[in-house]
Amino acid sequence: MANQSHLDILLKKEDHMLKEMLRSFVDKEIMPVRQRIDDDKEHKIVNKILQALTDLGIQKAPFPPEYGGNGVASVVTNAIVHEELSRGDSGICVARTVTGWAFVPALAAGNKAVLDRFAPEFCGKELKFGCFSMTEPGGPHGGGGCDIENVTLHGKKIRTIAKLEGDEWVINGQKMWASNSGIADVYCVVCTTDPGLGEAGVALIYVPKDTKGLTFGKNEKKAGMRGDKNHPAFLEDVRVPKEFRAAGPGNDAELLQNNLILGRIVTAAMAVGQAQGAFETVLKYTGDRIVADKPIRQHSVAACILADMAIGIETARNFYLSAAYMYDHPETYGPPVSNFMLSKASIAKMHACDVAVMVTNKAMELMGAYGYVRDYDVEKYWRDCKMIQLWEGGAQLGRFDVCRGYYDCNL
Ligand SMILES: Cc1cc2nc3c(=O)[nH]c(=O)nc-3n(C[C@H](O)[C@H](O)[C@H](O)COP(=O)(O)OP(=O)(O)OC[C@H]3O[C@@H](n4cnc5c(N)ncnc54)[C@H](O)[C@@H]3O)c2cc1C
Repeated sequence: MANQSHLDILLKKEDHMLKEMLRSFVDKEIMPVRQRIDDDKEHKIVNKILQALTDLGIQKAPFPPEYGGNGVASVVTNAIVHEELSRGDSGICVARTVTGWAFVPALAAGNKAVLDRFAPEFCGKELKFGCFSMTEPGGPHGGGGCDIENVTLHGKKIRTIAKLEGDEWVINGQKMWASNSGIADVYCVVCTTDPGLGEAGVALIYVPKDTKGLTFGKNEKKAGMRGDKNHPAFLEDVRVPKEFRAAGPGNDAELLQNNLILGRIVTAAMAVGQAQGAFETVLKYTGDRIVADKPIRQHSVAACILADMAIGIETARNFYLSAAYMYDHPETYGPPVSNFMLSKASIAKMHACDVAVMVTNKAMELMGAYGYVRDYDVEKYWRDCKMIQLWEGGAQLGRFDVCRGYYDCNL
């Protein structure tokens, strides 16, 4: 029974109810179609599912009630949504979650101009998309994905420049990889007013989709995560009102850091969802399939592998929930933007992603050829989970961020 779970310490009764509701949503709406998502180029299946999630109130959840939202701020609640949706399809999960992620800076800063302009439509019935556009192509002096996220580089590698001209920001630059880029209704663009200023120069500026000068390249062809679209974005003399900057000098850098910490916690939850999905598949398969006169899982070698999967999933789930709980309780654990929280969030992400990669890989081994075909779900989890190990700092920068919680790590 849900109300007897040991997770009651971290999850409220409503969280359990939400978890169960989403689990049945995934079983009913996503599982029957998940193998067709890779071929769903027009996103007909994906958007139908995203619209159903919008109908359930997931899109409007983070916005304050005065705009028609539900004011859901709990990271624990948010993270379990990620786990459950990713058991179905992490591409769909990321397309949904990035919309909320794009608004976190404006919500945290209480930016009325941005919220007045966008929140009412995102709290409506229609499916909308947001995009948090941070990563850049990089160049001879670095500045791609990790260099922008690396706290020791202080935002100095950002090359998308925002200049204030009168009452408007004028933005020039190029962005890569961002989820929902090319299909989003609004973009939270990570810029700098001057790379030399470091943190004081970092500016998170909201750009509506139809703004003159904002154009897109071709959708990236990825190994997995097809529920998520990633068109490169080009910004050429893009003009938006000066009020569309999230907060101001210094504060925007902290809001960027906040998004990275949150992103790591929910990425961990996504990885656990993927691992859980693969684990359920392999558990059933190895119970049904007979080798050497008994089910695969009754062979000790298979049982040990299944045990390692369970150990990984349970510890990863417990730790991402712990990290989310710590974020939600600054009165006990200190401010959410800190080396302590960055480290905890990174531990959650690194561990959960390693677990998901291990579980999907080993599940494929235990299933033989059947693990490699589309009919049995595992190969899709395998392709999808590798990606989330690479985003948000990659496997290396993420480990440096773990160290920052323990010593003055300058990597
Ligand atoms: C499906 C998908 C969705 C994405 N969604 C978004 C999104 O919504 N918004 C967004 O802005 N971006 C997004 N990204 C981009 C993603 O966050 C970046 O790809 C990621 O941050 C890594 O950046 P990079 O690919 O430029 O790799 P690089 O920065 O070039 O890093 C390459 C390698 O170098 C390692 N490395 C980095 N720094 C160091 C160091 N100091 N020392 C040693 N090694 C180091 C990394 O760990 C990695 O292994 C997405 C990408 C994909 C594929």
